[in-house]
Amino acid sequence: MTTQNTKYIFVTGGVASSLGKGIISASLGKLLLARGYSVAIQKLDPYINIDPGTLNPYEHGECYVTEDGTETDLDLGHYERFTNVLTSQNNNVTTGQIYQSVINKERRGDYLGKTVQVIPHITDEIKRSIKLLGKRYHYDVVITEIGGTVGDIESLPYIEAVRQLKWELGPHNSVVVHLTLVPYLSASGESKTKPTQHSVKGLLENGVQPDVLVLRTEHRLNVDIRKKVAQFCNVELGSVVESHDVDTIYEVPLMMKEEELDLTILNKLELAFKEDPKLMRWNKFVKKLKNPKKEIQVGLIGKYVELPDSYKSIQESFIHAGAENQCKVNVVTIHSEDINENNVKSKLKDLDGVLIAPGFGQRGIDGKIQAARYVRENNIPFLGICLGMQCAVIEYARNVLGYDGADSTEFNRRTPYPVIDLMEEQKNITEKGGTMRLGSYPCNIKADTRVYDVYKNQHIRERHRHRYEFNNLYLEDFEKAGMVASGCNPDTDLVEIIELPKHRWFVGVQFHPEYKSTVLSPHPLFVAFVKEMCSSGSHSQE
Ligand code: GLN
Repeated sequence: MTTQNTKYIFVTGGVASSLGKGIISASLGKLLLARGYSVAIQKLDPYINIDPGTLNPYEHGECYVTEDGTETDLDLGHYERFTNVLTSQNNNVTTGQIYQSVINKERRGDYLGKTVQVIPHITDEIKRSIKLLGKRYHYDVVITEIGGTVGDIESLPYIEAVRQLKWELGPHNSVVVHLTLVPYLSASGESKTKPTQHSVKGLLENGVQPDVLVLRTEHRLNVDIRKKVAQFCNVELGSVVESHDVDTIYEVPLMMKEEELDLTILNKLELAFKEDPKLMRWNKFVKKLKNPKKEIQVGLIGKYVELPDSYKSIQESFIHAGAENQCKVNVVTIHSEDINENNVKSKLKDLDGVLIAPGFGQRGIDGKIQAARYVRENNIPFLGICLGMQCAVIEYARNVLGYDGADSTEFNRRTPYPVIDLMEEQKNITEKGGTMRLGSYPCNIKADTRVYDVYKNQHIRERHRHRYEFNNLYLEDFEKAGMVASGCNPDTDLVEIIELPKHRWFVGVQFHPEYKSTVLSPHPLFVAFVKEMCSSGSHSQE
């Protein structure tokens, strides 16, 4: 038996993917925190990549970056946004990492001549990753979300690890929450429980009896449906929880509180209820979000816009900043490849502001540069993030400084004006995975600049994910021509922020503010950007 006091909650999913296990985990984490428990949330991803850093966003949505510079699953973004608890390397584990660690141990001879197998070696490694968080940081509760859907071949070792851990931890030390879908058949006007029953049977085949079922549904469920699910899936009626569709994911913690998911789980874990979660600030946020006084349109220019999850943290940051300003922010996604010199005006003229997104590679760059020029020349509020900032710099060099052919060496190695260039420490790196400048770095902000007004602080830290940087050889030329480097890394002088003081609101940042915006601390840059757009909001609802 394990002796530590941490309690474990496992969240599995059945029937279909994308039911919102991450949101349920984050909501549960939020409720337990609000009751006074310390909580960590972790995601186990059954794919073989070491991390999502090398994945194309079309494959996996956004790659979220933590303070410690780990490239992780976008669900970790939800965890931080909901709980304000920072995540790290230990909060996201993939099959690739599990196998790498087991193979390294085998090469070192740690297994003393044994045959290395999925059971027990892989499952032991999975259990070690789960217990590590509780052990090292002494959380009261660790919530572990198992990626994928029950029945997937690659999820099997994880489910087996859960089965073993449940047994090892003994009664009242762990709970399995299974999230399934209850589809509604409009032809017969019925909600169907059979897929849920089958999904629970799938778990049972693997030796795991879920303790709590969360039923995702488009239509409200009546008590008969809940009873049926309870009876056929061997759970108590009170352990069947409904999760119906709501307007915003930020209502889910409130719905789960209503459904008493936290109380049901605390009961099973024999933990005290402690204080009742008031969620006052959360409620206030949702109220502001749902009762906007103004409405604006912001263009989000990127090259992965077909998949909304590609820019998840940016979208969420606009929601946080919108609520703060009591303004509905409609994010209009525009494919950068669809923008050219002739149509840029018609595509951007009705927007209250434009954000140029992060990205990699040459595809879609011309459109981004055209857009940066249009917003600069037409005094339209602009925020450029990472590649977005770099495009604004290239555009300024070409059209204001007159540096014909200025470029980033990412797109043209032989450009006569490499205004964006590969960072020195990147020059000898050949491996792609986990080798960018990643995670949190300090930035000093110049007094009397727009961003100083925004942050009201001279020293900030922000998260990064890039290989290229502003080329300081050209800094003087830019400053003479009116572009100010208003934030720099104090150790390396790397330009972190550029702005145009003569423009209404034109800011480019080398870092990613979107990773740090949460419900309770909306990011100041997004808040200020939205505020500026609201001041001209052409679509006021008042
Ligand atoms: N491709 C650019 C770089 O590596 C920008 C990266 C980004 O937007 N995250 O510097």
